[in-house]
Amino acid sequence: QVTDTLLKEGPSSPSYDWFQTESSVTIVIYTKQKNINLDSVVVDLQDDTLRAEAVIKDHSYLIHIGLSHEVQENFFVRAIENVGKVDIVLQKKENISWKCLGHPLEKHDSFIPKKDAGLYYRKCQLISKEDVTHDTRLFCLMLPPSTHLQVPVGQHVYLKLSVTGAEIVKPYTPVSESLLSDFKEPVLPPNKYIYFLIKIYPDGLFTPELDRLQIGDFVSVSSPEGNFEVSKLQDVEDLFLLAAGTGFTPMVNVLNYALTSMSSLRKVKLMFFNKTEDDIIWRCQLEKLALKDKRFDVEFVLSAPSSEWNGKQGHVSPALLSEFLQRSLENSRVFLCICGPTPFTDEGIRLLHDLNFSTDEIHGFTA
Ligand code: FAD
Ligand code: NAD
Repeated sequence: QVTDTLLKEGPSSPSYDWFQTESSVTIVIYTKQKNINLDSVVVDLQDDTLRAEAVIKDHSYLIHIGLSHEVQENFFVRAIENVGKVDIVLQKKENISWKCLGHPLEKHDSFIPKKDAGLYYRKCQLISKEDVTHDTRLFCLMLPPSTHLQVPVGQHVYLKLSVTGAEIVKPYTPVSESLLSDFKEPVLPPNKYIYFLIKIYPDGLFTPELDRLQIGDFVSVSSPEGNFEVSKLQDVEDLFLLAAGTGFTPMVNVLNYALTSMSSLRKVKLMFFNKTEDDIIWRCQLEKLALKDKRFDVEFVLSAPSSEWNGKQGHVSPALLSEFLQRSLENSRVFLCICGPTPFTDEGIRLLHDLNFSTDEIHGFTA
Protein backbone atom coordinates (compact mmCIF):
# COMPACT_ATOMS: atom_id res chain seq x y z
CA GLN A 1 0.00 0.00 0.00
CA VAL A 2 2.82 2.39 0.89
CA THR A 3 4.46 1.69 -2.47
CA ASP A 4 1.15 2.37 -4.23
CA THR A 5 0.84 5.73 -2.52
CA LEU A 6 4.40 6.67 -3.44
CA LEU A 7 3.86 5.70 -7.05
CA LYS A 8 0.72 7.81 -7.27
CA GLU A 9 2.43 10.82 -5.74
CA GLY A 10 5.44 10.60 -8.09
CA PRO A 11 9.03 11.53 -7.20
CA SER A 12 9.59 13.88 -4.27
CA SER A 13 10.11 17.53 -5.10
CA PRO A 14 13.66 18.73 -5.71
CA SER A 15 14.99 21.86 -4.04
CA TYR A 16 17.79 24.29 -4.77
CA ASP A 17 20.32 26.45 -3.02
CA TRP A 18 23.14 28.75 -4.10
CA PHE A 19 26.51 29.92 -2.94
CA GLN A 20 29.19 32.24 -4.30
CA THR A 21 32.90 32.82 -4.45
CA GLU A 22 34.49 36.08 -5.46
CA SER A 23 34.18 35.27 -9.15
CA SER A 24 31.41 32.66 -9.43
CA VAL A 25 27.87 31.81 -8.39
CA THR A 26 26.87 28.18 -8.10
CA ILE A 27 23.26 27.08 -8.13
CA VAL A 28 22.80 23.61 -6.72
CA ILE A 29 19.77 21.50 -7.56
CA TYR A 30 19.11 18.64 -5.15
CA THR A 31 17.07 16.34 -7.36
CA LYS A 32 16.52 13.71 -4.66
CA GLN A 33 17.03 11.06 -7.34
CA LYS A 34 20.07 8.98 -8.11
CA ASN A 35 21.43 8.55 -11.63
CA ILE A 36 20.84 12.12 -12.64
CA ASN A 37 23.20 13.01 -15.46
CA LEU A 38 24.08 15.87 -17.73
CA ASP A 39 21.29 15.14 -20.15
CA SER A 40 18.68 15.39 -17.37
CA VAL A 41 19.08 19.15 -17.17
CA VAL A 42 18.65 21.90 -19.76
CA VAL A 43 19.93 25.37 -18.93
CA ASP A 44 19.36 28.61 -20.85
CA LEU A 45 20.83 31.92 -19.90
CA GLN A 46 19.41 34.91 -21.74
CA ASP A 47 19.89 38.55 -20.77
CA ASP A 48 20.58 37.59 -17.16
CA THR A 49 17.50 35.41 -16.99
CA LEU A 50 18.39 31.90 -15.93
CA ARG A 51 16.10 29.03 -16.83
CA ALA A 52 17.11 25.53 -15.73
CA GLU A 53 14.81 22.57 -16.20
CA ALA A 54 15.64 19.24 -14.60
CA VAL A 55 13.71 16.22 -15.80
CA ILE A 56 13.15 13.72 -13.03
CA LYS A 57 11.29 10.63 -14.14
CA ASP A 58 8.12 12.02 -15.73
CA HIS A 59 8.28 15.33 -13.84
CA SER A 60 9.91 18.65 -14.56
CA TYR A 61 11.57 20.90 -11.96
CA LEU A 62 12.09 24.50 -13.02
CA ILE A 63 14.41 27.17 -11.77
CA HIS A 64 13.53 30.49 -13.40
CA ILE A 65 15.23 33.55 -12.04
CA GLY A 66 16.01 37.09 -13.09
CA LEU A 67 19.60 37.23 -11.80
CA SER A 68 20.45 40.15 -9.53
CA HIS A 69 23.75 40.87 -11.31
CA GLU A 70 25.30 40.31 -14.70
CA VAL A 71 27.08 37.06 -15.50
CA GLN A 72 29.24 35.91 -18.40
CA GLU A 73 27.52 33.97 -21.17
CA ASN A 74 29.66 30.87 -20.64
CA PHE A 75 28.78 28.69 -17.67
CA PHE A 76 29.17 25.05 -16.92
CA VAL A 77 26.99 22.31 -15.56
CA ARG A 78 28.10 19.25 -13.66
CA ALA A 79 26.11 16.36 -12.29
CA ILE A 80 27.12 14.37 -9.23
CA GLU A 81 25.25 11.26 -10.23
CA ASN A 82 25.35 9.12 -7.12
CA VAL A 83 24.09 12.02 -4.96
CA GLY A 84 21.60 13.31 -7.51
CA LYS A 85 22.99 16.82 -7.34
CA VAL A 86 23.39 19.21 -10.28
CA ASP A 87 25.61 22.30 -10.11
CA ILE A 88 25.25 25.23 -12.47
CA VAL A 89 28.37 27.35 -12.18
CA LEU A 90 27.99 30.93 -13.41
CA GLN A 91 30.88 33.37 -13.79
CA LYS A 92 30.25 36.85 -12.41
CA LYS A 93 30.94 39.81 -14.69
CA GLU A 94 32.09 41.84 -11.70
CA ASN A 95 33.75 40.41 -8.64
CA ILE A 96 31.30 41.79 -6.13
CA SER A 97 29.34 40.00 -3.45
CA TRP A 98 25.70 39.24 -4.37
CA LYS A 99 23.12 39.81 -1.61
CA CYS A 100 20.55 37.64 -3.32
CA LEU A 101 20.46 35.37 -6.35
CA GLY A 102 17.69 37.35 -8.05
CA HIS A 103 13.93 37.52 -8.35
CA PRO A 104 11.67 34.57 -9.13
CA LEU A 105 10.04 34.47 -12.56
CA GLU A 106 7.06 32.49 -13.88
CA LYS A 107 6.80 28.91 -12.49
CA HIS A 108 10.07 29.26 -10.57
CA ASP A 109 10.71 26.36 -8.15
CA SER A 110 7.75 24.39 -9.57
CA PHE A 111 7.70 20.62 -9.92
CA ILE A 112 5.01 19.45 -12.27
CA PRO A 113 4.30 16.50 -14.59
CA LYS A 114 6.46 16.92 -17.70
CA LYS A 115 3.42 16.69 -19.96
CA ASP A 116 2.07 19.90 -18.36
CA ALA A 117 5.37 21.78 -18.52
CA GLY A 118 5.12 23.01 -22.12
CA LEU A 119 8.01 23.19 -24.55
CA TYR A 120 10.72 25.80 -24.27
CA TYR A 121 12.55 26.84 -27.43
CA ARG A 122 15.85 28.56 -28.10
CA LYS A 123 17.10 29.84 -31.47
CA CYS A 124 19.83 27.78 -33.09
CA GLN A 125 21.86 28.73 -36.13
CA LEU A 126 22.12 26.61 -39.27
CA ILE A 127 25.83 25.82 -39.66
CA SER A 128 25.82 23.36 -42.54
CA LYS A 129 23.59 21.30 -44.78
CA GLU A 130 24.79 18.28 -46.76
CA ASP A 131 23.04 15.88 -49.12
CA VAL A 132 22.95 12.33 -47.75
CA THR A 133 20.58 10.82 -50.33
CA HIS A 134 18.57 12.34 -53.19
CA ASP A 135 15.95 13.63 -50.71
CA THR A 136 17.55 13.46 -47.25
CA ARG A 137 19.99 15.99 -45.84
CA LEU A 138 22.18 16.26 -42.79
CA PHE A 139 21.54 19.57 -41.02
CA CYS A 140 23.94 20.86 -38.39
CA LEU A 141 22.57 23.42 -35.94
CA MET A 142 24.59 25.33 -33.37
CA LEU A 143 23.17 25.90 -29.91
CA PRO A 144 23.53 29.38 -28.42
CA PRO A 145 26.73 29.62 -26.30
CA SER A 146 24.57 30.19 -23.23
CA THR A 147 22.56 26.95 -23.55
CA HIS A 148 23.34 23.57 -22.03
CA LEU A 149 21.25 20.94 -23.84
CA GLN A 150 22.07 17.30 -24.56
CA VAL A 151 19.41 15.13 -26.15
CA PRO A 152 19.15 11.76 -24.37
CA VAL A 153 19.56 8.63 -26.52
CA GLY A 154 16.28 7.82 -28.28
CA GLN A 155 14.63 11.17 -27.61
CA HIS A 156 13.61 13.89 -30.04
CA VAL A 157 13.18 17.65 -30.11
CA TYR A 158 10.72 19.89 -31.93
CA LEU A 159 11.89 22.30 -34.60
CA LYS A 160 9.87 25.46 -35.11
CA LEU A 161 9.84 27.91 -38.00
CA SER A 162 7.74 30.98 -38.61
CA VAL A 163 6.32 30.99 -42.09
CA THR A 164 4.38 34.06 -43.19
CA GLY A 165 3.33 34.76 -39.64
CA ALA A 166 2.30 31.19 -38.80
CA GLU A 167 4.41 28.88 -36.65
CA ILE A 168 5.07 25.36 -37.90
CA VAL A 169 6.43 22.76 -35.48
CA LYS A 170 7.57 19.18 -36.21
CA PRO A 171 9.51 16.57 -34.20
CA TYR A 172 13.00 15.41 -35.25
CA THR A 173 15.49 13.00 -33.71
CA PRO A 174 19.08 14.25 -33.47
CA VAL A 175 21.78 11.84 -34.59
CA SER A 176 25.20 11.51 -33.05
CA GLU A 177 28.29 12.19 -35.09
CA SER A 178 29.55 8.66 -34.59
CA LEU A 179 28.57 7.38 -38.02
CA LEU A 180 29.41 10.55 -39.90
CA SER A 181 31.82 10.81 -42.78
CA ASP A 182 33.77 7.59 -42.53
CA PHE A 183 34.39 7.83 -38.81
CA LYS A 184 36.49 10.96 -39.03
CA GLU A 185 37.29 12.47 -35.65
CA PRO A 186 34.69 15.07 -34.71
CA VAL A 187 36.04 18.41 -35.85
CA LEU A 188 33.59 20.51 -33.89
CA PRO A 189 33.47 20.63 -30.08
CA PRO A 190 30.87 18.22 -28.69
CA ASN A 191 27.54 19.32 -27.20
CA LYS A 192 27.38 22.64 -29.01
CA TYR A 193 26.15 21.21 -32.30
CA ILE A 194 23.08 19.12 -33.05
CA TYR A 195 22.86 17.05 -36.22
CA PHE A 196 19.62 15.99 -37.90
CA LEU A 197 18.95 13.67 -40.82
CA ILE A 198 15.84 15.08 -42.43
CA LYS A 199 13.96 13.90 -45.48
CA ILE A 200 12.55 16.74 -47.58
CA TYR A 201 9.01 16.12 -48.85
CA PRO A 202 8.48 18.55 -51.80
CA ASP A 203 4.78 18.89 -50.94
CA GLY A 204 5.31 18.84 -47.16
CA LEU A 205 4.44 21.69 -44.83
CA PHE A 206 7.67 22.01 -42.84
CA THR A 207 10.58 20.37 -44.63
CA PRO A 208 10.58 22.54 -47.80
CA GLU A 209 10.72 25.62 -45.52
CA LEU A 210 13.61 24.11 -43.57
CA ASP A 211 15.37 23.30 -46.83
CA ARG A 212 15.02 26.93 -47.94
CA LEU A 213 17.03 28.22 -44.97
CA GLN A 214 20.44 29.70 -45.70
CA ILE A 215 23.56 28.97 -43.67
CA GLY A 216 23.47 31.40 -40.73
CA ASP A 217 19.65 31.48 -40.50
CA PHE A 218 17.93 30.50 -37.26
CA VAL A 219 15.54 27.67 -36.30
CA SER A 220 13.92 27.28 -32.88
CA VAL A 221 14.78 24.03 -31.12
CA SER A 222 12.78 22.70 -28.15
CA SER A 223 14.03 20.85 -25.10
CA PRO A 224 14.11 17.05 -25.52
CA GLU A 225 11.08 14.79 -25.23
CA GLY A 226 10.40 11.09 -25.55
CA ASN A 227 9.79 8.00 -23.52
CA PHE A 228 12.81 5.87 -24.43
CA GLU A 229 15.25 5.23 -21.59
CA VAL A 230 18.63 3.55 -21.91
CA SER A 231 17.84 1.65 -18.70
CA LYS A 232 15.65 -0.55 -20.91
CA LEU A 233 18.89 -1.85 -22.44
CA GLN A 234 20.43 -2.92 -19.16
CA ASP A 235 21.90 -6.46 -19.34
CA VAL A 236 20.64 -6.89 -22.93
CA GLU A 237 22.75 -9.30 -24.97
CA ASP A 238 20.98 -9.26 -28.33
CA LEU A 239 19.67 -5.94 -29.59
CA PHE A 240 17.54 -5.87 -32.76
CA LEU A 241 16.81 -2.61 -34.54
CA LEU A 242 14.04 -2.44 -37.15
CA ALA A 243 14.01 0.85 -39.05
CA ALA A 244 12.09 2.08 -42.09
CA GLY A 245 13.10 5.22 -44.01
CA THR A 246 13.92 8.10 -41.66
CA GLY A 247 12.78 5.82 -38.82
CA PHE A 248 16.51 5.06 -38.89
CA THR A 249 17.25 8.30 -36.96
CA PRO A 250 16.59 7.10 -33.38
CA MET A 251 18.57 3.93 -34.18
CA VAL A 252 21.76 5.94 -34.81
CA ASN A 253 22.17 6.96 -31.17
CA VAL A 254 20.85 3.64 -29.86
CA LEU A 255 23.43 1.82 -32.00
CA ASN A 256 26.20 4.14 -30.87
CA TYR A 257 25.19 3.68 -27.23
CA ALA A 258 25.02 -0.11 -27.66
CA LEU A 259 28.51 -0.36 -29.15
CA THR A 260 30.16 2.05 -26.72
CA SER A 261 28.34 1.63 -23.42
CA MET A 262 26.61 -1.77 -23.17
CA SER A 263 29.03 -4.17 -21.55
CA SER A 264 26.49 -7.01 -21.78
CA LEU A 265 26.10 -6.67 -25.57
CA ARG A 266 26.91 -9.67 -27.74
CA LYS A 267 25.18 -8.66 -30.97
CA VAL A 268 23.32 -5.66 -32.41
CA LYS A 269 21.52 -6.19 -35.70
CA LEU A 270 19.84 -3.57 -37.85
CA MET A 271 17.22 -4.45 -40.44
CA PHE A 272 16.76 -1.35 -42.54
CA PHE A 273 13.66 -1.11 -44.78
CA ASN A 274 13.64 1.31 -47.70
CA LYS A 275 11.89 1.66 -51.03
CA THR A 276 14.98 1.71 -53.26
CA GLU A 277 18.78 1.52 -52.95
CA ASP A 278 18.97 5.30 -53.50
CA ASP A 279 16.87 5.85 -50.39
CA ILE A 280 19.26 4.08 -48.00
CA ILE A 281 20.72 6.57 -45.53
CA TRP A 282 24.42 6.10 -44.67
CA ARG A 283 24.62 2.69 -46.38
CA CYS A 284 28.36 2.89 -46.82
CA GLN A 285 28.96 3.93 -43.20
CA LEU A 286 26.77 1.09 -41.94
CA GLU A 287 28.55 -1.48 -44.10
CA LYS A 288 31.94 -0.22 -42.94
CA LEU A 289 30.84 -0.33 -39.33
CA ALA A 290 29.70 -3.94 -39.77
CA LEU A 291 33.12 -4.84 -41.15
CA LYS A 292 34.90 -3.00 -38.36
CA ASP A 293 32.84 -4.27 -35.43
CA LYS A 294 31.95 -7.96 -35.43
CA ARG A 295 29.13 -7.33 -32.95
CA PHE A 296 27.20 -5.33 -35.57
CA ASP A 297 25.30 -6.67 -38.59
CA VAL A 298 23.12 -4.79 -41.04
CA GLU A 299 20.57 -6.05 -43.56
CA PHE A 300 18.83 -3.91 -46.13
CA VAL A 301 15.31 -4.74 -47.33
CA LEU A 302 13.80 -2.93 -50.31
CA SER A 303 10.09 -2.61 -51.02
CA ALA A 304 10.51 -1.24 -54.59
CA PRO A 305 13.92 -2.52 -55.75
CA SER A 306 15.33 -2.28 -59.25
CA SER A 307 15.84 -5.52 -61.16
CA GLU A 308 19.56 -5.50 -60.23
CA TRP A 309 18.90 -5.78 -56.48
CA ASN A 310 19.76 -9.23 -55.18
CA GLY A 311 19.24 -8.52 -51.49
CA LYS A 312 16.10 -8.94 -49.41
CA GLN A 313 12.79 -7.59 -50.70
CA GLY A 314 9.30 -6.75 -49.52
CA HIS A 315 7.59 -5.20 -46.50
CA VAL A 316 8.01 -6.22 -42.88
CA SER A 317 6.76 -9.83 -42.70
CA PRO A 318 6.83 -12.94 -40.46
CA ALA A 319 9.32 -14.64 -42.79
CA LEU A 320 11.78 -11.71 -42.81
CA LEU A 321 11.53 -11.25 -39.05
CA SER A 322 11.82 -14.84 -37.95
CA GLU A 323 14.95 -15.29 -40.03
CA PHE A 324 16.48 -12.03 -38.79
CA LEU A 325 15.66 -12.33 -35.09
CA GLN A 326 18.06 -15.15 -34.29
CA ARG A 327 19.58 -14.93 -30.81
CA SER A 328 23.32 -15.26 -30.44
CA LEU A 329 22.71 -17.61 -27.50
CA GLU A 330 19.66 -19.62 -26.61
CA ASN A 331 17.68 -17.67 -23.95
CA SER A 332 19.84 -14.56 -24.32
CA ARG A 333 18.30 -11.36 -23.02
CA VAL A 334 16.87 -9.48 -26.02
CA PHE A 335 15.51 -6.05 -26.77
CA LEU A 336 13.93 -4.75 -29.97
CA CYS A 337 13.51 -1.19 -31.21
CA ILE A 338 11.25 -0.32 -34.12
CA CYS A 339 10.64 2.96 -35.95
CA GLY A 340 9.24 4.09 -39.27
CA PRO A 341 5.92 5.06 -40.87
CA THR A 342 3.07 4.34 -38.43
CA PRO A 343 1.65 1.35 -40.40
CA PHE A 344 5.17 -0.16 -40.48
CA THR A 345 5.68 0.28 -36.73
CA ASP A 346 2.19 -1.01 -35.87
CA GLU A 347 2.52 -4.04 -38.13
CA GLY A 348 6.06 -4.74 -36.89
CA ILE A 349 4.99 -4.69 -33.23
CA ARG A 350 2.04 -6.98 -34.00
CA LEU A 351 4.37 -9.45 -35.74
CA LEU A 352 6.88 -9.31 -32.88
CA HIS A 353 4.12 -10.22 -30.43
CA ASP A 354 3.15 -13.12 -32.74
CA LEU A 355 6.79 -14.25 -32.50
CA ASN A 356 6.40 -14.30 -28.70
CA PHE A 357 8.38 -11.21 -27.81
CA SER A 358 6.85 -9.47 -24.82
CA THR A 359 5.84 -5.81 -24.52
CA ASP A 360 8.77 -5.27 -22.13
CA GLU A 361 11.19 -6.42 -24.81
CA ILE A 362 9.95 -3.98 -27.48
CA HIS A 363 10.20 -0.23 -27.86
CA GLY A 364 8.22 1.37 -30.68
CA PHE A 365 9.29 4.96 -31.40
CA THR A 366 6.25 7.14 -32.00
CA ALA A 367 5.26 10.79 -31.56
P1 FAD B 1 3.94 16.83 -44.20
O1 FAD B 1 3.20 18.09 -44.50
O2 FAD B 1 3.62 16.17 -42.92
O3 FAD B 1 3.78 15.81 -45.40
C1 FAD B 1 4.60 14.63 -45.50
C2 FAD B 1 4.15 13.81 -46.69
O4 FAD B 1 2.88 13.27 -46.43
C3 FAD B 1 4.04 14.60 -47.98
O5 FAD B 1 4.42 13.81 -49.05
C4 FAD B 1 2.57 14.96 -48.02
O6 FAD B 1 2.12 15.14 -49.33
C5 FAD B 1 1.96 13.72 -47.39
N1 FAD B 1 0.71 14.03 -46.70
C6 FAD B 1 0.48 15.04 -45.83
N2 FAD B 1 -0.78 14.97 -45.39
C7 FAD B 1 -1.33 13.90 -45.98
C8 FAD B 1 -2.61 13.29 -45.93
N3 FAD B 1 -3.59 13.78 -45.17
N4 FAD B 1 -2.82 12.17 -46.65
C9 FAD B 1 -1.84 11.65 -47.41
N5 FAD B 1 -0.63 12.19 -47.51
C10 FAD B 1 -0.39 13.29 -46.81
N6 FAD B 1 11.67 12.95 -40.01
C11 FAD B 1 12.95 13.05 -40.45
O7 FAD B 1 13.17 13.27 -41.64
N7 FAD B 1 13.99 12.93 -39.57
C12 FAD B 1 13.81 12.70 -38.25
O8 FAD B 1 14.78 12.61 -37.47
C13 FAD B 1 12.46 12.59 -37.76
N8 FAD B 1 12.20 12.36 -36.44
C14 FAD B 1 10.91 12.24 -36.03
C15 FAD B 1 10.65 11.99 -34.68
C16 FAD B 1 9.34 11.80 -34.25
C17 FAD B 1 9.06 11.53 -32.79
C18 FAD B 1 8.28 11.85 -35.17
C19 FAD B 1 6.87 11.62 -34.73
C20 FAD B 1 8.52 12.14 -36.51
C21 FAD B 1 9.83 12.34 -36.95
N9 FAD B 1 10.10 12.67 -38.27
C22 FAD B 1 11.41 12.73 -38.70
C23 FAD B 1 9.03 13.04 -39.20
C24 FAD B 1 8.80 14.58 -39.15
O9 FAD B 1 8.32 14.96 -37.88
C25 FAD B 1 7.77 15.09 -40.19
O10 FAD B 1 6.60 14.34 -40.07
C26 FAD B 1 8.31 15.02 -41.61
O11 FAD B 1 9.51 15.78 -41.70
C27 FAD B 1 7.31 15.56 -42.63
O12 FAD B 1 7.03 16.90 -42.34
P2 FAD B 1 6.48 17.93 -43.42
O13 FAD B 1 5.70 18.98 -42.66
O14 FAD B 1 7.54 18.41 -44.33
O15 FAD B 1 5.51 17.06 -44.31
P1 NAD C 1 9.24 5.61 -46.85
O1 NAD C 1 7.91 6.03 -47.38
O2 NAD C 1 10.44 5.89 -47.67
O3 NAD C 1 9.14 4.06 -46.52
C1 NAD C 1 10.24 3.34 -46.02
C2 NAD C 1 9.82 1.89 -45.83
O4 NAD C 1 8.79 1.82 -44.85
C3 NAD C 1 9.23 1.24 -47.05
O5 NAD C 1 10.22 0.78 -47.93
C4 NAD C 1 8.45 0.09 -46.41
O6 NAD C 1 9.30 -1.02 -46.12
C5 NAD C 1 8.00 0.68 -45.10
N1 NAD C 1 6.59 1.08 -45.20
C6 NAD C 1 6.12 2.23 -45.72
N2 NAD C 1 4.78 2.22 -45.66
C7 NAD C 1 4.41 1.04 -45.12
C8 NAD C 1 3.17 0.45 -44.81
N3 NAD C 1 2.00 1.07 -45.08
N4 NAD C 1 3.17 -0.78 -44.24
C9 NAD C 1 4.32 -1.44 -43.97
N5 NAD C 1 5.53 -0.90 -44.27
C10 NAD C 1 5.58 0.31 -44.82
O7 NAD C 1 9.47 6.21 -45.39
P2 NAD C 1 9.81 7.69 -44.98
O8 NAD C 1 9.15 8.66 -45.93
O9 NAD C 1 11.27 7.82 -44.77
O10 NAD C 1 9.03 7.84 -43.61
C11 NAD C 1 9.61 7.56 -42.38
C12 NAD C 1 8.57 7.66 -41.30
O11 NAD C 1 9.22 7.45 -40.05
C13 NAD C 1 7.82 8.97 -41.22
O12 NAD C 1 6.45 8.67 -41.12
C14 NAD C 1 8.31 9.58 -39.92
O13 NAD C 1 7.31 10.34 -39.27
C15 NAD C 1 8.67 8.35 -39.11
N6 NAD C 1 9.67 8.64 -38.07
C16 NAD C 1 9.27 8.50 -36.78
C17 NAD C 1 10.15 8.76 -35.77
C18 NAD C 1 9.68 8.60 -34.35
O14 NAD C 1 8.53 8.36 -34.11
N7 NAD C 1 10.51 8.71 -33.34
C19 NAD C 1 11.46 9.13 -36.06
C20 NAD C 1 11.85 9.27 -37.39
C21 NAD C 1 10.93 9.02 -38.41
